[in-house]
Amino acid sequence: MKPTIAGLHHVTAICGDPNPNAHFYVELLGLRLVKYTVNHDDPTTPHLYYGDNRGTPGTNITFFPWTSDKPRGRMGSGQTQDTAYLIRPASLDYWRRRLEEQPLEIREFRRFDEIVLAVSDPDDINIELVASPAADAAQVEPWSNSPVPEEHQLRGFHGVTLAITDLDPTRDLLTDILGYEAVARSSDRVRLQAPEKGPGSIVDLVQTERPRGRVARGSVHHVAFKVADADEQTRLRRALADRGLRVTESIDRLYFRSIYCREPGGVLFEFATMGPGFTYDEAPGKLGSRLVLPEHLEGRRDEIEAGLPDFRPPELFRK
Ligand code: ZN
Repeated sequence: MKPTIAGLHHVTAICGDPNPNAHFYVELLGLRLVKYTVNHDDPTTPHLYYGDNRGTPGTNITFFPWTSDKPRGRMGSGQTQDTAYLIRPASLDYWRRRLEEQPLEIREFRRFDEIVLAVSDPDDINIELVASPAADAAQVEPWSNSPVPEEHQLRGFHGVTLAITDLDPTRDLLTDILGYEAVARSSDRVRLQAPEKGPGSIVDLVQTERPRGRVARGSVHHVAFKVADADEQTRLRRALADRGLRVTESIDRLYFRSIYCREPGGVLFEFATMGPGFTYDEAPGKLGSRLVLPEHLEGRRDEIEAGLPDFRPPELFRK
């Protein structure tokens, strides 16, 4: 049986100072900080997850803040160029006005019959708001304390745009193994869509002549797709390995289980299970209100907290 991919699970990027990052994603975009933890592979780096009220898969953008003087990322081949959220077409004026109040450069354009508002976050990561009727079908849980009224809140992901030198091997992986289908094409872009054509189902591929990009502050680290459960993940792992890709073992990320592989164009792909979700270690009302650590790191809490960058969650986060 062919594994079925239902679209994006989360997108993980690298930012600098976590404070302007949180300001942008919570105070401006109205997402909820649903988890404040550390990178399990490197507990000196925080890990922030933003999403809807519950952090429903398909709504989460997550960040590793790198606050040292490490080099900045560089956009190039093998990278996620844009991350797009859905908004309702009726919310377009609201978002135009909301973004215009900020010292942001807003680019507005039409792509495949959808209107896109594009901005850069404080670390120059490209974020798009795409007005699409698909927003109405999105299974998202509004956050009642959001600075954005419920009817205008982001409706989960629309999709991502990947910049690739040679589109064919990446397109073939998405269509042959993950079940995506080419649904539209323009001079510089191929649009692929997951079999369940709902929110987060879009992957756009754009051809780039740029050299391989560098993943560091200001760039996307990986793109994660949804798999239903561990069995589905096992089937997918086998299919990817049969294709000749190097795939990791299934890793327990507490809130989901994940496998990783680098797709032929250079982008790191993750395949994450739907559950158990962010309420695994915090009550729904308390999500993101404090630093949570996996059990095996809890004994080192004082040392870990002392080494983390100063992060002052705004009042909104504690509600
Ligand atoms: Zn991930």
